[in-house]
Amino acid sequence: MASHGKTDIERKSPILVVGAGGLGAPALLALAGAKCGPLLLIDPDPVELSNLPRQTIYGEADIGKPKAIAAARRLAELAHDLPVEAAVARLDERNASRYIARADFVIDATDDPAAKFLINDVCVALGRPFVYGGVLGLTGQAMTVMPGETACLRCLFETPPDIEETASCRDAGIIGPVAGAIGTLQACEAMRAVAGLRPALAGNILALDGSRTGRIRIAPIAARPGCACGAARSQLSAAQAAN
Ligand SMILES: [Zn+2]
Repeated sequence: MASHGKTDIERKSPILVVGAGGLGAPALLALAGAKCGPLLLIDPDPVELSNLPRQTIYGEADIGKPKAIAAARRLAELAHDLPVEAAVARLDERNASRYIARADFVIDATDDPAAKFLINDVCVALGRPFVYGGVLGLTGQAMTVMPGETACLRCLFETPPDIEETASCRDAGIIGPVAGAIGTLQACEAMRAVAGLRPALAGNILALDGSRTGRIRIAPIAARPGCACGAARSQLSAAQAAN
């Protein structure tokens, strides 16, 4: 993909994948299939039996093992020359800057609104592009944030959505195909970004309705004036310069 003679896996800075569950598992498989890396993945949880139908990166022998370790092992089988680093940890306020500063691009594959806003805030502060992904009920969403240039999560929501709503959707167990599609889209955004191309969802939110209507919609998101990310200011001055 790169035009300067280096293959993707010779790049030094990794793509950071935060979470190796419903979104992270399909994202990791797509990245490994494209030999796009290096990869750095972080997840605190063990593989559970209930994960196996939806998170096909794992097998029965992985039950009880940390997802980060089991996923890294599977990726090594699929793409043996792809450098993969795994951390059994939860991204939190103490370690987020350290992990995100190392990355070229970040995939938010968490299912926790607080973690999504932490990723947003640290990526904005450090100037790292990232792709947000979320599944609410039968609807999946994805949006790529180019810090200071396109709308961030706080432009969109201001505050984290109700955690009970997201928790009930997680329990519903019907989000597999939607999460698989969103996770794969997030991998595509990462591939574009590290290849020097503009991510397709930069400044646009994609909503995938997994219910009977099955609609896919892409809508531009305006940066919110007053948001600390500063994207509204830079969009205004770009518009003024064009006039
Ligand atoms: Zn913002």
